[in-house]
Amino acid sequence: MTRRVGRRPDGTLFGLVIALVVAGGCLVGGTSDPGGAPAPDQPRSAPSGTATTRADGTDTVEEFQQDVADARSIAERYWSEQFRASGQRFQPIRRVIPYQRDGEVTCGGQEIPRNNAVYCSAGDFIAYDIRWSFGAFRQIGDAFVFYLLGHEYAHGIQTRLGIRYSFTIQQELQADCMAGAYLGDSVRSEALRIDDGDLEEFREGLLAVGDAPDQPWFAEGSHGSPEQRAEAFFRGYERSLDACDLT
Ligand SMILES: [Zn+2]
Repeated sequence: MTRRVGRRPDGTLFGLVIALVVAGGCLVGGTSDPGGAPAPDQPRSAPSGTATTRADGTDTVEEFQQDVADARSIAERYWSEQFRASGQRFQPIRRVIPYQRDGEVTCGGQEIPRNNAVYCSAGDFIAYDIRWSFGAFRQIGDAFVFYLLGHEYAHGIQTRLGIRYSFTIQQELQADCMAGAYLGDSVRSEALRIDDGDLEEFREGLLAVGDAPDQPWFAEGSHGSPEQRAEAFFRGYERSLDACDLT
């Protein structure tokens, strides 16, 4: 698997993506039930100015962690600007928590299982299985991290805006659209830089994370078919938040 990388103005590389995403995951969604206890914080680091290149299979934990930190700070800056533009005060998501074991982190008293990433509205945090995420990062590319953080961050924004759909598929496809908008707008503002070919690879990645064909659209936990997820993401990517039905 190959991926193309673009150089960010600050020198960090942002490569968009590829293929197969590991099954499961939040890509599984917002565990958004209220009541969870806050969990420990992840150390936050600022984006470095260090240029890095990665050959397949040589991605390091340090690079992964840097991408998580970059994705988080770019999402924060993006949403902070959106809120300011509409005259609202913005509160960043409080924590981004890596975990390794089943139940190491709970949300609203519910244990968060491995191989997952969630936004927990109860504690206002994002939690992600670090091994699972790192594995996907190595397999797919660093854009996976930007997408993952963008999608979970979008669930936090939905909570801030009081958006709560009846069906999880609506909540999830909107989060995909918002993740697309955050990435597309960040590319347009040159906070991120990618190459054209990367978008096609990203599409392949999105197509791999959709629900199975026999999953009913109305089922709890449904995220949308592969085509629906890719359509939602690129609608946001190309047309920004106006395309995401936030109002
Ligand atoms: Zn989700």
